[in-house]
Amino acid sequence: MKVIGLIGGMSWESSAEYYRIINQTVRNVLGGQHSAKSLMYSVDFHDIEHFQHAGQWQLAAQEMISCAKRLERGGADFIVLCTNTMHKLAADIESSVSIPLLHIADATAEKIQAAKLKRVGLLGTRFTMEQDFYKGRLEQRHGIEVLVPGEKDRDIVHRVIYDELCQGKILESSKREYLQVMKSLNDAGAEGTILGCTEIGLLIRRDDSALPIFDTTRIHAEKAVELALSDNL
Ligand code: GLU
Repeated sequence: MKVIGLIGGMSWESSAEYYRIINQTVRNVLGGQHSAKSLMYSVDFHDIEHFQHAGQWQLAAQEMISCAKRLERGGADFIVLCTNTMHKLAADIESSVSIPLLHIADATAEKIQAAKLKRVGLLGTRFTMEQDFYKGRLEQRHGIEVLVPGEKDRDIVHRVIYDELCQGKILESSKREYLQVMKSLNDAGAEGTILGCTEIGLLIRRDDSALPIFDTTRIHAEKAVELALSDNL
Protein backbone atom coordinates (compact mmCIF):
# COMPACT_ATOMS: atom_id res chain seq x y z
CA MET A 1 0.00 0.00 0.00
CA LYS A 2 1.31 3.45 -0.91
CA VAL A 3 1.49 6.37 1.52
CA ILE A 4 -1.08 9.11 0.79
CA GLY A 5 0.24 12.61 1.49
CA LEU A 6 -2.60 14.98 2.36
CA ILE A 7 -2.32 18.77 2.41
CA GLY A 8 -5.14 19.60 4.80
CA GLY A 9 -6.60 22.30 6.97
CA MET A 10 -8.47 24.13 4.19
CA SER A 11 -10.61 23.83 6.12
CA TRP A 12 -9.98 21.14 8.72
CA GLU A 13 -13.75 20.48 8.69
CA SER A 14 -13.32 18.85 5.28
CA SER A 15 -9.88 17.35 5.97
CA ALA A 16 -11.52 15.32 8.75
CA GLU A 17 -13.93 13.98 6.09
CA TYR A 18 -11.03 13.03 3.82
CA TYR A 19 -9.38 11.12 6.68
CA ARG A 20 -12.63 9.32 7.53
CA ILE A 21 -13.56 8.43 3.93
CA ILE A 22 -10.02 7.26 3.05
CA ASN A 23 -9.85 4.93 6.03
CA GLN A 24 -13.42 3.65 5.58
CA THR A 25 -12.71 2.93 1.91
CA VAL A 26 -9.55 0.97 2.72
CA ARG A 27 -11.51 -1.01 5.28
CA ASN A 28 -14.29 -1.71 2.74
CA VAL A 29 -11.78 -2.92 0.17
CA LEU A 30 -9.32 -4.85 2.32
CA GLY A 31 -11.50 -5.71 5.31
CA GLY A 32 -10.49 -6.63 8.85
CA GLN A 33 -8.27 -4.13 10.64
CA HIS A 34 -6.87 -2.58 7.47
CA SER A 35 -6.54 1.19 7.36
CA ALA A 36 -4.81 3.72 5.10
CA LYS A 37 -1.15 4.67 5.31
CA SER A 38 -1.21 8.44 5.25
CA LEU A 39 0.47 11.65 6.29
CA MET A 40 -1.38 14.93 6.66
CA TYR A 41 0.20 18.35 6.90
CA SER A 42 -2.55 20.67 8.08
CA VAL A 43 -2.12 24.43 7.65
CA ASP A 44 -3.48 27.36 9.66
CA PHE A 45 -6.42 28.32 7.43
CA HIS A 46 -6.41 31.88 8.83
CA ASP A 47 -3.27 32.62 6.80
CA ILE A 48 -4.46 30.91 3.63
CA GLU A 49 -7.87 32.57 3.62
CA HIS A 50 -6.16 35.92 4.06
CA PHE A 51 -3.79 35.30 1.12
CA GLN A 52 -6.72 34.24 -1.09
CA HIS A 53 -8.89 37.26 -0.42
CA ALA A 54 -5.95 39.69 -0.62
CA GLY A 55 -4.94 38.19 -3.99
CA GLN A 56 -1.55 37.19 -2.53
CA TRP A 57 -1.37 33.94 -4.48
CA GLN A 58 2.43 33.96 -4.54
CA LEU A 59 2.50 33.72 -0.74
CA ALA A 60 -0.14 31.00 -0.84
CA ALA A 61 1.96 29.12 -3.40
CA GLN A 62 5.01 29.29 -1.13
CA GLU A 63 2.97 27.77 1.68
CA MET A 64 1.60 24.98 -0.56
CA ILE A 65 5.08 24.18 -1.87
CA SER A 66 6.42 23.98 1.68
CA CYS A 67 3.59 21.56 2.62
CA ALA A 68 4.26 19.37 -0.41
CA LYS A 69 7.98 19.22 0.34
CA ARG A 70 7.33 18.25 3.95
CA LEU A 71 5.09 15.41 2.78
CA GLU A 72 7.64 14.24 0.25
CA ARG A 73 10.39 14.29 2.89
CA GLY A 74 8.07 12.37 5.22
CA GLY A 75 7.74 9.55 2.71
CA ALA A 76 4.45 10.25 0.91
CA ASP A 77 4.15 8.53 -2.48
CA PHE A 78 1.73 11.07 -3.92
CA ILE A 79 -0.07 14.26 -2.89
CA VAL A 80 -3.75 14.94 -2.31
CA LEU A 81 -4.57 18.62 -1.91
CA CYS A 82 -7.77 18.61 0.16
CA THR A 83 -9.39 21.71 -1.38
CA ASN A 84 -10.66 22.60 -4.84
CA THR A 85 -9.72 26.27 -4.61
CA MET A 86 -6.04 25.72 -3.93
CA HIS A 87 -5.76 23.67 -7.12
CA LYS A 88 -5.28 27.10 -8.66
CA LEU A 89 -1.69 26.46 -7.51
CA ALA A 90 -1.49 22.84 -8.74
CA ALA A 91 1.28 23.60 -11.23
CA ASP A 92 3.41 25.30 -8.55
CA ILE A 93 3.10 22.22 -6.35
CA GLU A 94 3.79 19.80 -9.20
CA SER A 95 6.96 21.57 -10.21
CA SER A 96 8.34 21.68 -6.65
CA VAL A 97 8.31 17.96 -5.80
CA SER A 98 9.05 14.75 -7.66
CA ILE A 99 5.97 12.85 -6.42
CA PRO A 100 2.69 13.26 -8.36
CA LEU A 101 -0.34 15.36 -7.40
CA LEU A 102 -3.71 13.65 -7.73
CA HIS A 103 -5.77 16.47 -9.27
CA ILE A 104 -9.29 16.84 -7.84
CA ALA A 105 -10.81 18.05 -11.14
CA ASP A 106 -9.45 15.04 -13.05
CA ALA A 107 -10.88 12.60 -10.51
CA THR A 108 -14.23 14.41 -10.70
CA ALA A 109 -14.23 14.47 -14.50
CA GLU A 110 -13.73 10.71 -14.57
CA LYS A 111 -16.94 10.25 -12.53
CA ILE A 112 -18.93 12.69 -14.67
CA GLN A 113 -17.82 10.87 -17.81
CA ALA A 114 -18.67 7.50 -16.28
CA ALA A 115 -22.19 8.87 -15.65
CA LYS A 116 -22.24 9.94 -19.32
CA LEU A 117 -23.06 13.57 -18.55
CA LYS A 118 -21.99 16.40 -20.82
CA ARG A 119 -23.11 19.53 -18.97
CA VAL A 120 -22.91 20.05 -15.20
CA GLY A 121 -23.38 22.87 -12.69
CA LEU A 122 -20.50 23.92 -10.45
CA LEU A 123 -20.74 25.20 -6.88
CA GLY A 124 -17.61 26.33 -5.09
CA THR A 125 -15.76 29.40 -3.91
CA ARG A 126 -15.78 32.46 -6.16
CA PHE A 127 -12.22 31.54 -7.14
CA THR A 128 -13.30 28.10 -8.31
CA MET A 129 -16.52 29.24 -10.00
CA GLU A 130 -15.04 32.29 -11.74
CA GLN A 131 -11.45 31.48 -12.66
CA ASP A 132 -10.21 29.19 -15.35
CA PHE A 133 -8.01 26.74 -13.41
CA TYR A 134 -10.97 24.48 -12.60
CA LYS A 135 -13.76 25.09 -15.13
CA GLY A 136 -11.18 25.41 -17.88
CA ARG A 137 -9.58 22.09 -16.98
CA LEU A 138 -12.98 20.33 -17.05
CA GLU A 139 -13.86 21.93 -20.36
CA GLN A 140 -10.55 21.75 -22.22
CA ARG A 141 -9.05 18.49 -20.92
CA HIS A 142 -12.23 16.55 -20.38
CA GLY A 143 -14.82 18.07 -22.75
CA ILE A 144 -17.35 18.74 -19.96
CA GLU A 145 -19.45 21.89 -20.23
CA VAL A 146 -19.65 23.74 -16.91
CA LEU A 147 -22.44 26.10 -15.83
CA VAL A 148 -21.88 28.43 -12.88
CA PRO A 149 -24.51 30.35 -10.90
CA GLY A 150 -25.25 34.01 -11.64
CA GLU A 151 -23.52 36.82 -9.74
CA LYS A 152 -25.95 36.99 -6.80
CA ASP A 153 -26.03 33.24 -6.36
CA ARG A 154 -22.22 33.03 -6.52
CA ASP A 155 -22.14 35.51 -3.64
CA ILE A 156 -24.42 33.31 -1.56
CA VAL A 157 -22.46 30.13 -2.29
CA HIS A 158 -19.10 31.79 -1.52
CA ARG A 159 -20.30 33.46 1.69
CA VAL A 160 -21.79 30.26 3.08
CA ILE A 161 -18.50 28.41 2.47
CA TYR A 162 -16.29 30.85 4.38
CA ASP A 163 -18.70 32.21 7.01
CA GLU A 164 -20.42 28.95 7.83
CA LEU A 165 -19.12 25.63 6.46
CA CYS A 166 -15.40 26.30 7.09
CA GLN A 167 -16.39 27.26 10.64
CA GLY A 168 -18.43 24.12 11.26
CA LYS A 169 -21.84 25.85 10.97
CA ILE A 170 -24.37 23.75 9.07
CA LEU A 171 -27.59 25.75 8.68
CA GLU A 172 -30.92 24.54 7.28
CA SER A 173 -31.56 28.02 5.79
CA SER A 174 -28.31 27.82 3.78
CA LYS A 175 -29.14 24.34 2.61
CA ARG A 176 -32.42 25.70 1.20
CA GLU A 177 -30.51 28.48 -0.58
CA TYR A 178 -28.05 26.00 -2.08
CA LEU A 179 -30.84 23.74 -3.30
CA GLN A 180 -32.45 26.75 -4.96
CA VAL A 181 -29.16 27.62 -6.70
CA MET A 182 -28.81 24.01 -7.85
CA LYS A 183 -32.36 24.08 -9.20
CA SER A 184 -31.62 27.23 -11.22
CA LEU A 185 -28.57 25.53 -12.75
CA ASN A 186 -30.59 22.42 -13.55
CA ASP A 187 -33.32 24.58 -15.13
CA ALA A 188 -30.57 26.15 -17.27
CA GLY A 189 -29.59 22.71 -18.57
CA ALA A 190 -27.15 21.23 -16.05
CA GLU A 191 -27.58 17.45 -15.87
CA GLY A 192 -25.98 17.23 -12.44
CA THR A 193 -24.05 19.32 -9.89
CA ILE A 194 -20.41 19.32 -8.85
CA LEU A 195 -20.01 20.10 -5.16
CA GLY A 196 -16.75 21.83 -6.06
CA CYS A 197 -15.75 22.81 -2.57
CA THR A 198 -14.72 20.19 -0.08
CA GLU A 199 -17.06 21.42 2.67
CA ILE A 200 -20.29 21.42 0.64
CA GLY A 201 -20.82 17.69 1.25
CA LEU A 202 -21.39 18.61 4.91
CA LEU A 203 -24.48 20.60 3.81
CA ILE A 204 -25.81 18.82 0.70
CA ARG A 205 -26.24 15.05 0.54
CA ARG A 206 -26.53 12.80 -2.47
CA ASP A 207 -30.27 12.25 -2.00
CA ASP A 208 -31.03 15.99 -1.79
CA SER A 209 -31.40 16.16 -5.58
CA ALA A 210 -33.10 13.99 -8.15
CA LEU A 211 -30.17 14.70 -10.51
CA PRO A 212 -26.65 13.34 -9.91
CA ILE A 213 -24.42 15.08 -7.38
CA PHE A 214 -20.63 14.88 -7.61
CA ASP A 215 -19.15 15.38 -4.16
CA THR A 216 -15.50 16.23 -4.84
CA THR A 217 -14.38 15.28 -1.31
CA ARG A 218 -15.68 11.74 -1.59
CA ILE A 219 -14.58 11.34 -5.21
CA HIS A 220 -11.05 12.61 -4.48
CA ALA A 221 -10.66 10.57 -1.28
CA GLU A 222 -11.86 7.37 -2.97
CA LYS A 223 -9.56 7.98 -5.95
CA ALA A 224 -6.65 8.42 -3.52
CA VAL A 225 -7.37 4.97 -2.09
CA GLU A 226 -7.62 3.47 -5.57
CA LEU A 227 -4.20 4.89 -6.37
CA ALA A 228 -2.70 3.83 -3.03
CA LEU A 229 -3.84 0.26 -3.62
CA SER A 230 -2.81 0.08 -7.28
CA ASP A 231 0.55 -0.45 -8.97
CA ASN A 232 0.04 2.66 -11.10
CA LEU A 233 2.65 5.05 -9.79
N1 GLU B 1 -12.36 23.72 0.88
C1 GLU B 1 -12.78 24.69 -0.05
C2 GLU B 1 -12.57 24.24 -1.48
O1 GLU B 1 -12.64 23.06 -1.74
C3 GLU B 1 -12.62 26.12 0.26
C4 GLU B 1 -11.53 26.48 1.22
C5 GLU B 1 -10.35 26.99 0.48
O2 GLU B 1 -10.42 28.12 0.09
O3 GLU B 1 -9.39 26.26 0.29
O4 GLU B 1 -12.40 25.02 -2.37
